[in-house]
Amino acid sequence: MDLHERLLVQVSVRDVYDAATLAGHPGSGLVFTGQAGHDAVRMVRRAGYDGPLLADRRRYAGSARVRGTARLSADWIADQVEAGATTPLTDSGYIGEGDHESLHAILEQALQWDDAVAVLPVHARWVTGDRGTLLHTVADYGSPVALVVEDGPPYRPIPLPLLSAGVAALGALAHGARWAAIGVREVLRHLYPEPHEARGGWRRGGARSAFVVEGLEFVPVERLGEGTCGCAACRGRPLRHLVEAEELHVNTHNARVLHGLHNRLLRATHRERWWQALTEAAAGAGSPTKR
Ligand SMILES: [Zn+2]
Repeated sequence: MDLHERLLVQVSVRDVYDAATLAGHPGSGLVFTGQAGHDAVRMVRRAGYDGPLLADRRRYAGSARVRGTARLSADWIADQVEAGATTPLTDSGYIGEGDHESLHAILEQALQWDDAVAVLPVHARWVTGDRGTLLHTVADYGSPVALVVEDGPPYRPIPLPLLSAGVAALGALAHGARWAAIGVREVLRHLYPEPHEARGGWRRGGARSAFVVEGLEFVPVERLGEGTCGCAACRGRPLRHLVEAEELHVNTHNARVLHGLHNRLLRATHRERWWQALTEAAAGAGSPTKR
């Protein structure tokens, strides 16, 4: 089982029973989030799921997040291996703007494990102005890494695996990242700067957003525009039928549509150009679903 070119779905532990629905197709896989993530990995593995499975402890997010200088847990690595994770992820803390000490602390500690992926949750400055430093430092240590990029200005895709991303996951894959994970719901598609003021948008009416291909964006179901969807979940119905649908149905639509895009990406002869054309078309579409 390999993570090569996989588009994973990042979920909560409570999604454990929906795993096969959300990530049952080829080229997919799951990332369970939180400190019980390895338990979910074990359950899904025992239930016979044969795709890649990862566990992201996400100590780097939320109001009680830890700094990247925190000691990485060997128990957390061992728990994931024992549970049947495809490869273990470190339980890294957050790497703030210009915090070289945290970046080095995580990469240095990760060297003690042969196959662990060093999770690097970074301030947006690391993928814009300090991008060269980040890439050189990662290359110098030589360990496999996965980025989590805090919300910030748009940035050029980076050829490194991504966790907790939105459509940027496809951009990373198009630019040569080995794998990337898209969050199944809003909070798992972002790393919010702290302190984070919840703007109320994602709680109201549940957390249901549907992916719309034309705009390459997740749209709250209440704001969906005209148009139909031919995915296996919607079967040609108007997109607006998702307004009344259960969260799992909306997320199944998301998984199917993103899987379709992923397949197109893998077949593209020049992936970077394909992605650029797609994003330019989305920006110029003036999609009626846009706010
Ligand atoms: Zn659909």
